[in-house]
Amino acid sequence: YHAKKKGNSYLFFNDTMNRQAVKRLQIENLMRFGLKEDHFEVYYQPKMNIRTGKLDGMEALVRFITPKKGIISPGVFIPIAEETGQIIEIGEVVLNKACRDVKNWIDKGLFNGRVAVNLSAKQFSLPDLTTRIDVILQKNELPSYFLELEITEGTVMDDPQEAIAIMRSLSARGIHLAMDDFGTGYSSLAYLKQFPLNTLKVDKAFIDDMQSERGRNMVDSIVTIAHNLDLHVVAEGVEQAEQITMLEQLNCQTVQGFYYSKPLSQPEFTEFLKTQQSNSAPSLIRKINA
Ligand code: C2E
Ligand code: MG
Ligand code: MG
Ligand code: MG
Repeated sequence: YHAKKKGNSYLFFNDTMNRQAVKRLQIENLMRFGLKEDHFEVYYQPKMNIRTGKLDGMEALVRFITPKKGIISPGVFIPIAEETGQIIEIGEVVLNKACRDVKNWIDKGLFNGRVAVNLSAKQFSLPDLTTRIDVILQKNELPSYFLELEITEGTVMDDPQEAIAIMRSLSARGIHLAMDDFGTGYSSLAYLKQFPLNTLKVDKAFIDDMQSERGRNMVDSIVTIAHNLDLHVVAEGVEQAEQITMLEQLNCQTVQGFYYSKPLSQPEFTEFLKTQQSNSAPSLIRKINA
């Protein structure tokens, strides 16, 4: 029986497919339950300004915390949620919690910048996207100025003309837009200049490659293109001090990565903001402004 089965690649392929289908179904069910039971939490990773050593903003990152299977990584459940459409509901939970937390930090005087929230392709193409965002902002009494949305090349290159229209309506509200994982997907330089973007996030893959001269030249070129288009640049996945030094030389002001901090839970990020504040001599800043 085993020999026969082993020799039959079709059967083996089928078995693997079945196992994958079962796993997907399990995660889909876990997500349905998790949405009901509030198992999706938002963590925050600081975006640091190299020059000042201070916080430029933060990125909201979803965490699926299940009682039975522990934390399930976004890399595992996001692709499945994209396929099932559950990403729409998950995305709303994330946006809502991110707005709530930022409102709280602003009210406490701990923060005065933008929170970046990842937007999936499914969410981006919802016909009532802007209304949904308006509702969440209003509910949390958060002005749109404090929100940034991160979208990927794949999301906008599907239908670039339509994407430009959607981005314009978001941008008109004062929401900032960032191109996430830049350089990894299918992107067109011809379109890059037409998209109403504020920020370009250089993917970790390019940052990892900076040990080589060609890798450094690549990042140099991306930063130059971004600046020539009046875009802010954020380097993703920065882990080493040498990378900070190189990025500073290349004129990249903002970095995000484990070097400064891993993504933090809401209470942890509150503590982080407090230590930031004690470092920045706020009394002096207030005196100058008064
Ligand atoms: P992303 O938007 O590019 O987020 C950056 C990812 O890199 C995060 O992984 C972050 O934890 C990780 N990272 C940051 N610094 C470092 C570093 O120095 N080294 C390494 N090795 N990794 C670093 P995470 O949280 O696992 O999220 C993975 C992806 O899942 C995100 O990539 C994003 O595409 C997606 N995602 C996360 N949260 C959401 C969400 O709320 N909505 C949607 N639609 N997608 C999300
Ligand atoms: Mg992102
Ligand atoms: Mg990214
Ligand atoms: Mg990335």
